[in-house]
Amino acid sequence: MLSYRHAFHAGNHADILKHYTLSIVLDYFNQKDKPYSVIDTHAGAGMYSLADDFSQKNMEFETGISRLLSAQTLPKPLTQFVAMVQSFSQAEKLNFYPGSPKVSEYFLRANDQLRLFELHPNDYKILVNNFKGESTLVKVEMQNGFVGIKACLPPPSKRGVVIIDPPYEDKQDYQYVVQSIKESLKRFATGTYIIWYPLIPKQEPEKMINALRQLKVNSWLNVSLNITKPLGNGYGMFGSGLFIINPPWILPSVLEESLPILTKLLGQDSNASYQIESEIR
Ligand code: SAM
Repeated sequence: MLSYRHAFHAGNHADILKHYTLSIVLDYFNQKDKPYSVIDTHAGAGMYSLADDFSQKNMEFETGISRLLSAQTLPKPLTQFVAMVQSFSQAEKLNFYPGSPKVSEYFLRANDQLRLFELHPNDYKILVNNFKGESTLVKVEMQNGFVGIKACLPPPSKRGVVIIDPPYEDKQDYQYVVQSIKESLKRFATGTYIIWYPLIPKQEPEKMINALRQLKVNSWLNVSLNITKPLGNGYGMFGSGLFIINPPWILPSVLEESLPILTKLLGQDSNASYQIESEIR
């Protein structure tokens, strides 16, 4: 079942939380010269036009990245994030929004590596096209990311960031995430793993988070952003979160500073709120 197309959602509140956090993590990785790898198990198309029919259908970017663009003042890390996003549009107007592969590529240095997995044939084609002629250090594969990740770990330099961002249309994705993390930690215990999840009125995300909390890892951080109150009908995403294993030590304080601002900017009603919990050793 591959009906999900990220182009409908590009630049929405969930992308902001995910890509902002990813950019903080990669900026931190760049503080050391030693090369690292980014492995993106569910890459999507890589770059999205905000003018095409997908983006224009629900204009989700209007209540996402557009709100950051029109903010008067932002703290430095958010200003840098907005500048990164804007760097993909030639004109002053925001025409494009980068997906996680392009966000990663923005930060990568000459010796770092990017491994991308995307299963949807159309998005795979667009992704390949978006990386055409780029460095050989970027490898794009049309493969199940939960399977492909195994051969990527540990990365050659033993430094790496793994992004796991499934559509969760298939309920089994929640179990695949936990299984994949358990196997990955055996191969690469010191890696930084960023797992995205939706806030929906169902038990599966909470069950997955509980299973991740119980893993024997040194450090973890769980951040979530509710943009509205849960809808009473049992459906609909009312926010999103990220569970991060082995986060950089600076991440809790950067998020503590940014999340109140993101909640104000991206919140859609008075129930908007955020939560950050962490165990950092
Ligand atoms: N990570 C992207 C970003 O932040 O820009 C968005 C990814 S989107 C939420 C999830 C993507 O995973 C979709 O493009 C979907 O086609 C793809 N997908 C679904 N199941 C997959 C699997 N098992 N392996 C690899 N890709 C998969």
